[in-house]
Amino acid sequence: MHIAVIGNGILGSCCAAWLQRDGHAVTFVDPLGPAEATSFGNAGSLSPSACLPVGMPGMWRKAPRWLLDPLGPLSVRWRYAPVVTPWLLRFLRASEPAQVVRIATALRGLLAPIFECYEPLLQRAGGTSLMTRGGCLYVYSSEAVARQWRWGMDLRRSLGVDLREVGEEELAALEPDLRGRFRFGLLAPENGSATDPAALTRAIFERCVADGAAVVRARATGFRRRGTEVAAVRLDGGREVACDGVVLAGGAWSAALARPLGPSIPLETQRGYHVTVASNNLGLRHTVMAVEHNMMVNPMSMGLRLAGSVEFAGLEAPPEYARADVLLARGKEMFPHLDTSSTTQWMGHRPCLPDSLPVIGPAPRAGNAWFAFGHGHVGMCGAASTGREVANLVAGRAPGIDLAPFSPLRFA
Ligand SMILES: Cc1cc2nc3c(=O)[nH]c(=O)nc-3n(C[C@H](O)[C@H](O)[C@H](O)COP(=O)(O)OP(=O)(O)OC[C@H]3O[C@@H](n4cnc5c(N)ncnc54)[C@H](O)[C@@H]3O)c2cc1C
Repeated sequence: MHIAVIGNGILGSCCAAWLQRDGHAVTFVDPLGPAEATSFGNAGSLSPSACLPVGMPGMWRKAPRWLLDPLGPLSVRWRYAPVVTPWLLRFLRASEPAQVVRIATALRGLLAPIFECYEPLLQRAGGTSLMTRGGCLYVYSSEAVARQWRWGMDLRRSLGVDLREVGEEELAALEPDLRGRFRFGLLAPENGSATDPAALTRAIFERCVADGAAVVRARATGFRRRGTEVAAVRLDGGREVACDGVVLAGGAWSAALARPLGPSIPLETQRGYHVTVASNNLGLRHTVMAVEHNMMVNPMSMGLRLAGSVEFAGLEAPPEYARADVLLARGKEMFPHLDTSSTTQWMGHRPCLPDSLPVIGPAPRAGNAWFAFGHGHVGMCGAASTGREVANLVAGRAPGIDLAPFSPLRFA
């Protein structure tokens, strides 16, 4: 088949690579170059352990605070609050314990095969060095504080996540830079990282192009139908790309394109920020998640990246870089000797559904369209396994994981 893949972020690139392995011809449709949107600047964590949803039990108690602290780790811009309120109510409903167990089980299924799904793509792309397997440390100011997250830890362990408790001395031995600031940790030894998420995405995309994928630099505006099928992707400027099938992997911008292909999907952007410190004069060997600050610290090839923050303000509002300044201030608190003389800032749009699960599956109103978007905080983690599942769906093969929780029909 000739498949048009809308979006050339990490999701579109991985879907295309897996489709090519089945012999399909691919055309990428995107107005941007590869990894120029959210896949550019994320924290790069590749975490089979990251199976908990964003909405956790008891979160509703914190909701009023979100509105009051504009620079807190999770905030809603006042002007956007009326728009996002129905979405937040669904999000809070999905944070009930029974829902969280269901969601975590589904996410664990998607994330457990991260490495086995990336490896063949990176080998083919000559990019295996873009992925490391050094483990992740979740760090806390004290063991008592860590106990507040006990329920989630136990849930992850019950799903097979390897999480090892690390006391103060062992933590300081593992990461001397953390000495004195953090007194308790959880080591997730099976976790890994992209050394540069943009380079990893580009490597997979460029291999697809070298293997024959066509690239159309244009925005998709809709579809021309032939009966129940998509016959072509319509582009701005009046052109179109004729195809036998289409994969929608347009990240946070997917909802409008998905509308004619299925029931309305409540896709929202959770805007996140990074600061990358060019000099990285620390000796960190793991990715470090500072749980209380909700901030990931990752030593990457271009420097030390501090990433996090969740801001509800929609797709159009300009970035609020004071949020990136907060990340840098936290980084300086954590590592007083960090050389911050040269830094860059960035904002990206996480594509998020209220239940923290992506949409992966056949489009309900077209026989030859498939959805692969909404991966929220775990798009790097879940992209390669999503690509493999999309290829299974297109081929009519049995899925490798239970795809029912990811159905586009769950919001109907
Ligand atoms: C601060 C931050 C930290 C993060 N850290 C991590 C992490 O550590 N690990 C992890 O797994 N995930 C992380 N994420 C999430 C991850 O970055 C995203 O889930 C992932 O990049 C989404 O990839 P995507 O391909 O779906 O979207 P994108 O990379 O945004 O790509 C979507 C593409 O679709 C294109 N597009 C949109 N509309 C159209 C249209 N109409 N026609 C054609 N093309 C279109 C866009 O131009 C874009 O190129 C983080 C995100 C942020 C913001």
